[in-house]
Amino acid sequence: MPKTTTPNNPIWVSGAVIVGAGPSGLAAAACLKHRGIPTLILERSHCLASMWQLKTYDRLRLHLPKHFCQLPLFPFPSHFPSYPTKHQFLAYLHAYALYFGISPAFGTHVLGALFDRGIRRWRVRTAREGREYLCRWLVVATGENAEEVVPEIEGMEEFVGPVLHSSEYKSGSVFCGKKVLVVGCGNSGMELCLDLSNHNARPSLVVRHTVHILPQQMFGRSTFSVSMWLLKWLPMGVVDQFLLLMSHLMLGDTSRFGLHRPKIGPLRLKNLYGKTPVLDVGTLALIKSGNIKVCRGISRLRQHEVEFVDGKVEKFDAIILATGYKSNVPSWLKGSEMFSEEDGLPRKAFPNGWKGENGLYAVGFTKLGLLGASMDAKLIAQDIERSWKAL
Ligand SMILES: Cc1cc2nc3c(=O)[nH]c(=O)nc-3n(C[C@H](O)[C@H](O)[C@H](O)COP(=O)(O)OP(=O)(O)OC[C@H]3O[C@@H](n4cnc5c(N)ncnc54)[C@H](O)[C@@H]3O)c2cc1C
Repeated sequence: MPKTTTPNNPIWVSGAVIVGAGPSGLAAAACLKHRGIPTLILERSHCLASMWQLKTYDRLRLHLPKHFCQLPLFPFPSHFPSYPTKHQFLAYLHAYALYFGISPAFGTHVLGALFDRGIRRWRVRTAREGREYLCRWLVVATGENAEEVVPEIEGMEEFVGPVLHSSEYKSGSVFCGKKVLVVGCGNSGMELCLDLSNHNARPSLVVRHTVHILPQQMFGRSTFSVSMWLLKWLPMGVVDQFLLLMSHLMLGDTSRFGLHRPKIGPLRLKNLYGKTPVLDVGTLALIKSGNIKVCRGISRLRQHEVEFVDGKVEKFDAIILATGYKSNVPSWLKGSEMFSEEDGLPRKAFPNGWKGENGLYAVGFTKLGLLGASMDAKLIAQDIERSWKAL
């Protein structure tokens, strides 16, 4: 057992405390366990990978090919398709936890963590009966997507139809025959429009900013793999030009449909600002055919109507906010310089964001999804092992 309890609390943990039992927390726990270092995962929800289990839509598949998404030391089963479904991914995560004997403390919401200089330990305070944990190593694995971002839109309380965040959306079946406005044109917003259209709803997509849309596959391989391969030989600017040329040839001029491209290329934009390009899984064809309408930004909502910035007014039955997520680290991690108060991400850019001060680590904040989480987890385990062995 990694912990010893005294009758009066706090609970001393002999290895690392990991906050969050998503893929990143599991990867960190597995890599540490592999090196003989005990861990305790504190997870606020009552299940593994709560974002994947509770906050994703039914038709979701991994956006990137499976070999970029598998966690360290335990490959995906060979019979999985190139883009596993969310149910396959969840089955994999459960098998992963079982294989490494990882059993998180569920229902344990971390409310505060502070380094106690007197005893040189992290004090981790939780909502579960006020329990406090003391540990030498603290691994933050609460994710880039811990809390929903809900924009303030004038008149939102007046609108009579449902207004929900994409995290609450499961399937377009409940919107059959309805006019639905999807706000946000990232991968989720685009895919929800496709799902709505497939279920005979009438979706419109609000596109306020520019967006890079790339084909999901080119030359029979995933666009992501092609980009990674080209980046080994060519500078990013050249690869961007290539991706834009191929996108133009395969998808046409997206600006004709109100989807204007940013001035900076897709990889550079991701690298500089963390903005992920949309990998088209069929939405664009429905935009071209007019099944999905593209709208400008919203200026305000009324009871049954939406007024857009270009002055148009249209009736809608429901609104779905595909407006993304944010990190919650600044709300509970105190007295540390490692994370920015502004966006809750490590201040040091990739690949240096995984290590902080006084035994503090971050896994899964690289803007590189599961691939980045695996890289962090391996580095963290190596680093903790050095001080663990020196004890
Ligand atoms: C719709 C969608 C599709 C995606 N598809 C892909 C993909 O195909 N490939 C890819 O690489 N990435 C994808 N991503 C990105 C995805 O978020 C990550 O890959 C992955 O889920 C990150 O894992 P994580 O463990 O860092 O964060 P999460 O999965 O968000 O897990 C964090 C965990 O921490 C817990 N937690 C948060 N705060 C606290 C607290 N204070 N106390 C205790 N527990 C807490 C949460 O409950 C959660 O269980 C997708 C994201 C979304 C939204």
